[in-house]
Amino acid sequence: MKCSRCKQLACVSLPSHNSGFCAECYPLFFTRQVETAIRREKMFTREERILVALSGGKDSLSLMLELALQGYAVTGLHIDLGIPGSSEKARAKVETFCAAHGLKIQVLEMEKEGLPIPDVKAHVNRPVCSVCGRIKRHHFNRVALEGGYDALATGHNLDDEVARLFANTLRWDTAYLSDQGPVLPAREGFVRKVKPLFRLSEFETANYAFLKGIEIHSDPCPYASGASFTGHKELWGELEHRSPGQKFQFYQGFLKNGKPAFAAREKEIGEPLAPCCECGSPTSAGTCSVCRIKAAVRESKAKTTGA
Ligand code: SF4
Ligand code: ZN
Repeated sequence: MKCSRCKQLACVSLPSHNSGFCAECYPLFFTRQVETAIRREKMFTREERILVALSGGKDSLSLMLELALQGYAVTGLHIDLGIPGSSEKARAKVETFCAAHGLKIQVLEMEKEGLPIPDVKAHVNRPVCSVCGRIKRHHFNRVALEGGYDALATGHNLDDEVARLFANTLRWDTAYLSDQGPVLPAREGFVRKVKPLFRLSEFETANYAFLKGIEIHSDPCPYASGASFTGHKELWGELEHRSPGQKFQFYQGFLKNGKPAFAAREKEIGEPLAPCCECGSPTSAGTCSVCRIKAAVRESKAKTTGA
């Protein structure tokens, strides 16, 4: 196959785009997709300050580099979860990457926040990944608001979005369906959230990271159950193989035809939010879920140690 741009030998084939690219032209394809996402969805401007959530994986580091190369005012935020044997490696990758590219970065340590994930795993009787995800989202939002950032960008790609949409659809979870999309506008207590990689698949982002020589943190988290959307991604991989472009069509169809209806319904029945009485984050329950988790960990630890 020849490169769709320069007609040299292509090294990446993209059936869903009916095209292929050589190593030199591929990053340009990636850039165009990110530019299109930002422009069409009105994600942010070059005058705005963007906080980028950095896990150390291929998606977040590719996103950070690409936005910086496009001239956006980006700062990275890495959350050190305090998981032995894993968090220090992820943090080292993020710090080395940012230092090598001259990018600003902030690190938030869950140990100092009183919520290291091993404590959550040991003391909270709920699936650790759902609690961990909640804690991360809470802190990304809080840091973005406190730092006066205009938007929080995350590296969610098309496969992540489609797998999540599919799972929410299977459960007909209207609250989540109303809240899913490449842009969640800012509202009281919530910073604007954007996903500039939503047009790109996992494969496409992995190729970009590889061709740009980004060293990523790829070790699986020791607490990962392996169940998180993996089956749905495999299913969609099969559908995409049979009918290239299906994933993007499904997601775009939802944004156009499904999301507005769910959003309107949720506006009618959604619970009103008020600031958490401990940390000020929006909640419908007096004390927000993260403050309640923190208290549960504290109490359980005190019982265990007899303090
Ligand atoms: Fe947190 Fe689970 Fe991800 Fe590990 S796999 S970082 S526990 S969400
Ligand atoms: Zn709170």
